[in-house]
Amino acid sequence: MSKLDNLKKLQRELEASVDQLPLGNTAEDIVHGEGSVDAEVMFIGEAPGYHEQIQRRPFVGRSGQLLRKTLIEVNLPPEKVFISNIIKARPPENRDPTEEEIEAYKPFLNREIEIISPGLIATLGRYSMQKFLPYVKISQVHGRLHKVEWNDKTIFVLPMYHPAAGLRSTNVKQSFIDDFKKIEKTLLWIGEQQKTIKFEEKIKDSLL
Ligand code: URA
Repeated sequence: MSKLDNLKKLQRELEASVDQLPLGNTAEDIVHGEGSVDAEVMFIGEAPGYHEQIQRRPFVGRSGQLLRKTLIEVNLPPEKVFISNIIKARPPENRDPTEEEIEAYKPFLNREIEIISPGLIATLGRYSMQKFLPYVKISQVHGRLHKVEWNDKTIFVLPMYHPAAGLRSTNVKQSFIDDFKKIEKTLLWIGEQQKTIKFEEKIKDSLL
C-alpha cells in the first residue's frame, strides 16, 4: 500500500473510533494532519482550536497564519511539509490537553509519524516536545536539534516555540522566526548523517 493509502486508512480508523476517544463526538470533530506524505519535516502542534475545528484543518487560525507565513519565508511552503497535532479534536475553551487525552490519541499520532517517516520532526510548543524530550525546558532548548531514540529508531527532533506564544510576545516571535530559519541547513545536515548511517549499515551487513 502507498503512503497515501496508509494515511487514508489511518484517518478512516480514527474517525470510526471517535466514540471511544475523548473530546470528539462525531467524525466531523476530528482534525487530521495535512500536507505532503513525502514531507521531510513534520510539524506537531497541540490541538485544534475553534477555526481548525470549523474548517477541519490544522493551524488555520491566528497562530496557524503565523506558522504558515513563516514556512513560506523559510522556503518550506505548507504543502511541502506535514502539519499535525498530538490531539485530533478540540478541547473545550481551548484548554490544555490532559494526560489521558494525549494518551488516547497517541496510537494515531504514532502511526501518522510512522507513515510520513519525516527526516525531521519539529515540535510546536511544550506538549508535543514532551512526547520526545520529557525532561527539558522549551526556553532552554528551542531551535536546538536533538537526536532521540524513539520507538526503536533514531530520529531527529527540533523543538520550536508554539506560534501562539509568538503572538503573545515579540521576543518569542523573533526566536520562533530565527529557529525556523535554521530548518533548511538542519535538513541538509540530517541528509548527510543519514547517508553515513546507511553506509555504515551496508558495511555491517556485508561483514555479517
Ligand atoms: N494550535 C495548535 O496547537 N494546533 C492547531 O491546529 C491550531 C492551534
